[in-house]
Amino acid sequence: MSQTAPIIVVGGGIAGLVTALAAAPAPVVLLMRNAGSNGAASALAQGGIAAAHSQGDSPAAHARDTCAAGSHHNDAAMVDVLTRSAADAIDWLQRLGVAFDRNDDGTLQLGREGGHDRSRIVHAGGDATGAVVMAALVAAARNAVHIERHTGVDVDGLMLRNGGVSGVCITRRDGSQSALEGCAVVLATGGIGGLFAHTSNPPDADGSGLALAIAAGADTRDLEFVQFHPTALAVPGLHSLPLVTEALRGAGAHLHDAQGRALMKGVHPLGDLAPRDVVARQVWAACEGEGAWLDARAIGDVFTRDFPTVLAACLAHGIDPRSQPIPVRPAAHFHMGGIHTDADGRTSLPGLFAVGEVACNGVHGANRLASNSLLEGVVFGRRLGQCLRDIDGAAAGGRSFKFLHRGPSLDAAQLTRMRHLMTQAMGPLRTGSLLQVALRDCDALACVGWQGALARALVSAALRRRRSLGAHFRDDGPLSGHSTKGAWRVA
Ligand SMILES: Cc1cc2nc3c(=O)[nH]c(=O)nc-3n(C[C@H](O)[C@H](O)[C@H](O)COP(=O)(O)OP(=O)(O)OC[C@H]3O[C@@H](n4cnc5c(N)ncnc54)[C@H](O)[C@@H]3O)c2cc1C
Repeated sequence: MSQTAPIIVVGGGIAGLVTALAAAPAPVVLLMRNAGSNGAASALAQGGIAAAHSQGDSPAAHARDTCAAGSHHNDAAMVDVLTRSAADAIDWLQRLGVAFDRNDDGTLQLGREGGHDRSRIVHAGGDATGAVVMAALVAAARNAVHIERHTGVDVDGLMLRNGGVSGVCITRRDGSQSALEGCAVVLATGGIGGLFAHTSNPPDADGSGLALAIAAGADTRDLEFVQFHPTALAVPGLHSLPLVTEALRGAGAHLHDAQGRALMKGVHPLGDLAPRDVVARQVWAACEGEGAWLDARAIGDVFTRDFPTVLAACLAHGIDPRSQPIPVRPAAHFHMGGIHTDADGRTSLPGLFAVGEVACNGVHGANRLASNSLLEGVVFGRRLGQCLRDIDGAAAGGRSFKFLHRGPSLDAAQLTRMRHLMTQAMGPLRTGSLLQVALRDCDALACVGWQGALARALVSAALRRRRSLGAHFRDDGPLSGHSTKGAWRVA
């Protein structure tokens, strides 16, 4: 007999929360590893949310910048949806109670970041946008009667039935395990920074949702495209590095090397505000030598007001950015690729949906434009939630189901080895020979732990793409003409 089953949403970041809220009044079970916004990259977002708000700006101009950053590998229809829905997404967040920063005349304050041809980034609490937005979403989810929240829950398996996905397997913090059936399973598990030696992502961004979808046979897309943020705070011994927001460069900060030479001079017409992959390669090359620094001293008095998060992170590590340059290095930041979805989050497997960073509908192309991913979570989360609202709530029923478990994890030493491997082979500069070596090692690691299998999928995708494109920069590709010493050429 069939019964009403909930929509299962896995992940309590912006994409999962927005999807869950937008599905009202359909019943939703929201599964999260941590309470509140802990563990979600969304809460760490510093720059803000891009939307064409100012006079003279338009969704078309925002779309142009999005596609230029993405090396025109973007799905134009998805970019259109994103950029046209942006202003409405900001309004929706404001109705939920998000107070974006405003000018004295009451208009929204707009910042500028790399790759944007003008100021169009709304922000909240200065550089605390993610925390402010997440606080409003978490409060709304707590008050929503259609959402049942479970924290301390790791989703480590899927229930498969009739060629589709009909539920999840969960392990609670106390070690107890169970399965939960749903009329739809939404993976909103975020990114994959945890596969790399240095990342701006929180530890929960381990790629487990993507790994599960791949193991279940879901189609993936663009797995090779990993964005490195050029300026994470270079703190020795840390895996998750604090971010030094790009908005600082928007406000006039400059990158330089150990000799004080400007890193971006003559490299790109936008200089320090060049697209992230271009800046990341310069900083990467400098870090292979004596290091790279961001000089933000000129920002002066407004540091405390506009960049409280960066200031606090720097001071916590003994650096005062008001009086000394900030040591920086690139860190794995955002995965453009992921589980292949359409505009409504449908994957190739019936019953399985994906949204946010774990998903790939092509909107970011080969490189994400800054401040487009919180927007992605809101725009595509709302679309998906609204679609799921109308889904048949009957559980699939029937006895013939099986469980697909994530399997064992790599141990600490194996994880460290894999992260080093991934950073060398899948970093901002890639070569076929290093990728081949990484593939061999990942083959071996894949027999031991699920992270190895996921890493192998990424490396295989990078090997298949022989030409440089966006964030995938092959030093040895047929058309690549990059010199690690500096010159910027389109490849
Ligand atoms: C430091 C930093 C700054 C950024 N700044 C900006 C910015 O200014 N503007 C912008 O647009 N983007 C920014 N980004 C990118 C953006 O924050 C993320 O891409 C976006 O928030 C991803 O949202 P999400 O909901 O997909 O994932 P997340 O917010 O990461 O949420 C994923 C959720 O899934 C949970 N989870 C993961 N695996 C499991 C599992 N197996 N079982 C149960 N739960 C699980 C996690 O605990 C978490 O709750 C930034 C990212 C970082 C790291």
